[in-house]
Amino acid sequence: MSWLNEIDQRLAELDARTLLRRRREVLPEGGARLRVDGESLLAFCSNDYLGLSQAPALRQAVHAAVDLYGVGSGASPMVSGHSVANAALERELAAAVGLPRALYFYAGYATNASLVPALVGEGDALFSDALNHACLIDGARLSRATVHRYRHGDLAHLAELLAASPVRRKLVMSDAVFSMDGDVADIGALHALCEQHDALLLLDDAHGFGVLGPEGRGALAAAGLTGPTASPRVLYMATLGKALGVAGAFVAGPERLVEWVLQKTRSYTYATAAPPLLAEALRASLRCVLGADGEQRRQQLADRIEQLRNGLAPGQHAAFDATGWRLMPSATPIQPLLIGHNQPALAVMASLREQGLWVPAIRPPTVALGTARLRIALSAAHQPDDVDALLRALRKAAAQVAA
Ligand SMILES: *Cc1c(COP(=O)(O)O)cnc(C)c1O
Repeated sequence: MSWLNEIDQRLAELDARTLLRRRREVLPEGGARLRVDGESLLAFCSNDYLGLSQAPALRQAVHAAVDLYGVGSGASPMVSGHSVANAALERELAAAVGLPRALYFYAGYATNASLVPALVGEGDALFSDALNHACLIDGARLSRATVHRYRHGDLAHLAELLAASPVRRKLVMSDAVFSMDGDVADIGALHALCEQHDALLLLDDAHGFGVLGPEGRGALAAAGLTGPTASPRVLYMATLGKALGVAGAFVAGPERLVEWVLQKTRSYTYATAAPPLLAEALRASLRCVLGADGEQRRQQLADRIEQLRNGLAPGQHAAFDATGWRLMPSATPIQPLLIGHNQPALAVMASLREQGLWVPAIRPPTVALGTARLRIALSAAHQPDDVDALLRALRKAAAQVAA
């Protein structure tokens, strides 16, 4: 069979196994509503945790920036793309997370895929949580370092692997908030192990920056490893398309590590810098996050999380309890409802969709076999009525799937 025919066949196989991914065309309708393929849906699938992607302050910042800078950045930051707006954003991001220096990247995936090979190479050792994000895994592959995968959150396992490694350059890497489970890494304990074994620590706080820690300064600040107590061995990475509501990412840390990253990370050197209009949107977003507006949005988010968890607690609804579905333990906006098998997870998603709600079902291979789930993502853009609608719809789905 020719290669091209084989591609047809493999696509057909994916389709038969309901693994063919399809995109939907969406248009924001205000709040957490999206018009999706012509239909209005209440969405619980966005990582816009503070609702900032639609905020007036960010829109105004973009309008003003377009007049000043135009649209594109024109070149890599190493050539002429390092706009005064991007430079100001880097200083403000560093200050926000309480670390000496930050670098602004155009995308999170490209950051990690290229950052890991900048830090380690052949003969070096990488220690990676089993549930780390795909871009850390791809960075590990590109680096050609030896990868030691430790069981999710199992720091005794990590300690064993570190102790057994004779290698001089060791890098431990972990998501700070795990994207499909919503749990938070024990950063203090990870750091202590890194000190004990003279390893560096890379943290990906894509889902924590803006949400966790004092004033939303992120998971590292929450762990007390910033400002005067910052560590010389920690590199902090966070993305800017989630709670910050725009796009992009940054890497922050001690001067010498960030200088090394600037010199050696190919997705920084060989990619066109993010447009200054996005840097200005992000500067406005950061002011919101750190100010009273952010505090209010985080409070709304915390209230919605509590409302959902209370509504799905055992004893609230018999038909729901009978399904065996349960919310995984999570205090973050990622609230996965563990269902188990793929078929019922898809059936619940379909039932919710019929009821006008969009909550994605996540299946293997994205998550472990037998742990298919609904990944409910909450946001400050959700109103109490929205979460009530979700609770009602889930109870109705429970009755349908049980019948
Ligand atoms: C979303 C995400 C990324 C990728 O960031 P983008 O800016 O979307 O490319 C990286 N790491 C984690 C943990 C993420 O959830």
